Amino acid sequence: MINTDTKLVGLLGDPVAHSLSPLMHNSAFRTLGLNYRYLAFKVSTQDLSKAIEGIRGLGLRGANITIPYKQAVLPMLDEVDIQAKRIGAVNTIINEGGRLKGYNTDTTGFLAALKGFGFNPKGQKTVILGAGGVARAIAFALNKAGASVSIINRSLSTAQALAGEIGATAFESTEGGYGAALTGASLLVNATSLGMIPEDPSPLPSGMLLPGIMVFDTVYRPRQTRLLKEAEAAGCVAIGGLEMLIEQGALAFELWTGQNAPRQVMRQVVHEALL
Ligand code: NDP
Repeated sequence: MINTDTKLVGLLGDPVAHSLSPLMHNSAFRTLGLNYRYLAFKVSTQDLSKAIEGIRGLGLRGANITIPYKQAVLPMLDEVDIQAKRIGAVNTIINEGGRLKGYNTDTTGFLAALKGFGFNPKGQKTVILGAGGVARAIAFALNKAGASVSIINRSLSTAQALAGEIGATAFESTEGGYGAALTGASLLVNATSLGMIPEDPSPLPSGMLLPGIMVFDTVYRPRQTRLLKEAEAAGCVAIGGLEMLIEQGALAFELWTGQNAPRQVMRQVVHEALL
């Protein structure tokens, strides 16, 4: 029952209509009998700082930050965890008595998902499409795990800046660039926003994938993106973003509540939602 003790957590982003986080977290709160609720808020760029101030003003327990604000939110917080600061992106906020602290659970969420699919990044050649908030978390995660990282982004300068921070290589988003980056690669990650809308083109020109490459699409809705369909047709291992969603969400849940997240319930409800 919602009452005056109910703690609220919010998802701030634009778009948010696709998000399974409200379903996943509310199911988890209910399972553990926690008097928490999770709501999604579509926030425009000009309202972001007011929305963050609202977390303080209304005493929300915390928030998740999604597209396109994972980087923009950093200077609005009172404190940023050292790993999130290094990455330059925050996806989880905790409100401790009016002080907002930012964390990044995408990094561990991504690595846990990869591990679950039996991929060890150490010594592997990997390619990331995109250079936004999620791409940054994944680039830092793969780099730290001992992989070599190549980055391709629509805006080359953003890819170059990220590559420069971790000693990675940036390539142009041209056929030549994709071809050079993918030579000898064993993992391709889509961390662009392309794929969230069924009409979206693939983030990769067709015919570039060789059998054996693992293709990880961070997009989880729709479950089968154009990229994943093309990957399967090319004989690649194709993985969607659901396991990453569950793990990054579980870690955020544990930060807000201090309790172990019921991962199996979270997994079940998001899988059912996409049947
Ligand atoms: P950002 O807005 O920070 O970054 C978006 C990235 O996509 C940028 O690199 C941008 O390039 C690129 N991009 C956007 N539109 C296009 C386009 N039309 N053509 C080519 N590139 C484009 O978003 P996030 O990093 O927060 O999110 C990225 C993805 O991660 C989303 O698809 C989201 O669904 C997914 N995600 C998955 C999660 C999971 O747990 N599975 C959790 C959170 C997000 P440019 O720099 O040129 O603008």
